[in-house]
Amino acid sequence: MEIRDIRATTVTVPLEAPLRHANGCHWGRFVRTIVEVETDDGLIGLGEMGGGGESAEAVFRSMKSYLVGRDPARIEEMRFLIANPTASLYNNRTQVLAALEFACLDILGQAWGVPVSEILGGRLRDRVPFASYCFFRYADPRTGAGEVRTIEQLVEYTCALKRRCGFRTHKLKGGVFAPDYELEAYRALATAFPEDSLRFDPNAVWSTEQAIRFGQAIEGLRNDYLEDPVFGLNGMRRTRQMVRIPLATNTVVVNFEQLATNARDTAVDVILLDTTFWGGIRACIKAAAVCETFQLGVAVHSSGELGIQLATMLHLGAVLPNLSFAADAHYHHLTDDIIEGGPMQYENGAIRVPDRPGLGVKLNREKLGQYAELYRRLGNYPYDQDPGRPGWTPLVPNDRWADPKDGRPVRIPY
Ligand SMILES: [Mg+2]
Repeated sequence: MEIRDIRATTVTVPLEAPLRHANGCHWGRFVRTIVEVETDDGLIGLGEMGGGGESAEAVFRSMKSYLVGRDPARIEEMRFLIANPTASLYNNRTQVLAALEFACLDILGQAWGVPVSEILGGRLRDRVPFASYCFFRYADPRTGAGEVRTIEQLVEYTCALKRRCGFRTHKLKGGVFAPDYELEAYRALATAFPEDSLRFDPNAVWSTEQAIRFGQAIEGLRNDYLEDPVFGLNGMRRTRQMVRIPLATNTVVVNFEQLATNARDTAVDVILLDTTFWGGIRACIKAAAVCETFQLGVAVHSSGELGIQLATMLHLGAVLPNLSFAADAHYHHLTDDIIEGGPMQYENGAIRVPDRPGLGVKLNREKLGQYAELYRRLGNYPYDQDPGRPGWTPLVPNDRWADPKDGRPVRIPY
């Protein structure tokens, strides 16, 4: 079997409402690039990468000169072909490699008639549990609905999410408002859901002293972990010495060098594995094995996915023996997907691991065309800017917080 063609299409899919985070905002939609790798026997494998546009489509087109004529089963060789560690000093293609790895695994699963998880050691579970992943949100500029700014709105929104999807773990994305306000919000969730576990993630924008203060203040709650309270292994290590809660990261341990450093001189307890950041599902499984050896925790990270990437997270979650936490997904914030059959469904807080051959998802070409057209009309959005705070520059550590009393609607062109 040989690779014959590689195609990439950038799409934008609407969210229920703009999601606020420590560095800016998702402006009411995600931009993703969908990759198709076609073989000489007509199989099409699917991949997905965050962001996009002409540059992303061109990067994947340029990979044809490396990969056409190659066997899609030689995935380990592909790593050295396009993401050799020293060549990556000039051209870091880790995320490109990830999308192509997904597509090659999808091809192999289809060719061999088995789900990707069966290629990767075999599934240990048929469903992967997810956390609710709550954001502070602006109201959708089109409908005026969906705002999450006050603590009452946050609790009401999380209750509705729990009713809809059955979540028993709640993650609050913070770093938007002053830490004391977000502490009150987090405590309100703990009071509203005494049986459920919680996690908090301010996207690494606090000082170490602030992280210690917040961490100590939530020690008595049912915390899974405190995620990236500060940026950098040294700040994490200092926080960990003073706070009796596991710390987690998706920012400062995202490759094997950093993982080795963290094993030798531990600063983080739980490594959040992202199938894109680490360069594929297989790299995440290797990292999870290192974590198992050093008895570090692992969980599945979300960098904002459509159904193809979600399938990679499900197959990863299915095969990890040491997965002791619910996974994260932004998925429930989306209003639609580009896969056949529409968005995957949550049942009791979990999503079923696809059991068709390959990744188990197929493109809905009509939706792909529709959202590619929407992308052409709207273009990219600045992830690191906030439409409600023009001129704002967040610092690290930050002290330029948004005002929770400011309920002015944002205007975003759609
Ligand atoms: Mg995070």
